[in-house]
Amino acid sequence: MSYKCPVCGEQIKRDLTAYIDHTEKHIIDEIKGNHPDWVEKNGLCHKCLKYYRNQMKGEKDV
Ligand SMILES: [Zn+2]
Repeated sequence: MSYKCPVCGEQIKRDLTAYIDHTEKHIIDEIKGNHPDWVEKNGLCHKCLKYYRNQMKGEKDV
């Protein structure tokens, strides 16, 4: 069973789907800014989650 990441469009295995905790709302808001149709229950792939986490980290350092 495969799953298409709504953020990058890549096909991944469903058990590799990542979900963002509500404590990471800043990440959720950032993804929604780029993908207005995305909702957090859709999940995303770990690659995208890591990407957005790194982005948030980068912004904090500036
Ligand atoms: Zn992705």
